[in-house]
Amino acid sequence: MTREKWLYLETFGCQMNVSDSEKIIALLKGTGYHPTPDISYADLIILNTCSVRAKAEEKVYNHLTQLKGRKRKKRDLILGVGGCVAQQEGARLLANVPHLNFVFGTHNLHLLPEMVRAAERGERQAEVGFIDNDERLDLFPVADRVDAITRFVTVMQGCDNFCSYCIVPYVRGREISRRSGDILAEIAALTATGVREVNLLGQNVNSYGLKSPGEMDFPTLLRKVAEVPGIERIRFTTSHPKDISLPLIECFAELPKLCKHMHLPAQAGSNAVLAAMNRGYSRDEYLKTITALKRACPSIRFTGDMIVGFPGETEEDFRATLSLMEEVRYDDLFSFIYSKRPETKAADYADPVGFTEKQERLRRLQSLQQRITEENNKSLVGTVQEVLIEGESRREGQFYGRTSGNRVVNFSADLPPVGSIVDVVITRANRNSLLGELTAVKAAGQKAEG
Ligand code: SAM
Ligand code: SF4
Repeated sequence: MTREKWLYLETFGCQMNVSDSEKIIALLKGTGYHPTPDISYADLIILNTCSVRAKAEEKVYNHLTQLKGRKRKKRDLILGVGGCVAQQEGARLLANVPHLNFVFGTHNLHLLPEMVRAAERGERQAEVGFIDNDERLDLFPVADRVDAITRFVTVMQGCDNFCSYCIVPYVRGREISRRSGDILAEIAALTATGVREVNLLGQNVNSYGLKSPGEMDFPTLLRKVAEVPGIERIRFTTSHPKDISLPLIECFAELPKLCKHMHLPAQAGSNAVLAAMNRGYSRDEYLKTITALKRACPSIRFTGDMIVGFPGETEEDFRATLSLMEEVRYDDLFSFIYSKRPETKAADYADPVGFTEKQERLRRLQSLQQRITEENNKSLVGTVQEVLIEGESRREGQFYGRTSGNRVVNFSADLPPVGSIVDVVITRANRNSLLGELTAVKAAGQKAEG
């Protein structure tokens, strides 16, 4: 009888990688490897990596160094690296890290079972070729049992925008949309396992379908998803401000299932920096989009991403970012110090501002955002919010879920099953979450058996 084999998988970076990791787990189950959270049991270790910022990349190299000792103690331990660092480094990574067995790129997940079998035979290899057609396996779901109320569904991969700071187009390849029929079939299958909310995932979802002749566009896809029986809520991430169309804005007014939240990264508030970033919109155009969305859907909430210390950013440019934040009043913001990435255009730009000054700008930006987040959260106290219950909190008798605007709420309740949509009155606002009390169960729905 063959012994059960264990896979320890570590995921770095964004939701796209989390989604890929789920596929890796499902694929490798077929070769007899089962996931374990305990690295000491591992027969196979895979690092699914991110290279969007230099820090994320450094983490991978540090981790690989630490794994050397583990490999020395367990000679048949297999070690693989996938994701964006793998794509970027390819065979170089294999040459630089002698205890590494294989490297697989962002388009090569489907080769994994064979690569693992080759590693078991003692072979070492790197596969990082791009496959730019929609037959790619990483665009497809690899069916596995879903145990969740809310689920990410990949609708497109890659990016053609080439923002001057960003490595994604180089490590994830050209933008490619998954077939709408496959997406809708996956969502229908997910509802049968109890999923009630889907979050449509891609680097730039609002350009979905535009480059695939005969395919529907993103607003049409949203309307089709809303028709799938069992789906109660729809979210999507991420949107590019330059691609927000009128039909998409109309969806917020017309589709009750579409959550009233948009993650709309501005990246900067100054026209000079936006142009140098190659973002394709001005501050004014961004704000006009925000206004149009608020007009169509007055209760819509916004989150975003900001980069501080982009090459050449002056104090005045930075202040324009702070003033944009005051105007939009994001509920939350992911903020980063600019990180120079290989191959990108901005890597060649003069960057006279020192790192200490950039850290100080980040501190100022984050403290402003903290104030806005707290004020926004406080403004919800006393309001009734529709919450989809995602699970039970660690504290007994407490549940958690999200408002349509994407704020996490914890509340006490006896009855409502996970997966129900309930009305919760907000009683207290903490910095990152809200506390509330149940007022009404609006739609009961329990997870399906089996
Ligand atoms: N496609 C999405 C978009 O355009 O918003 C997200 C792409 S990226 C994985 C997520 C965020 O990382 C970006 O929105 C940006 O704020 C940040 N980012 C990307 N490249 C960066 C860099 N070189 N330095 C600092 N932050 C960066
Ligand atoms: Fe990167 Fe810009 Fe594409 Fe987003 S839109 S992935 S920031 S190049």
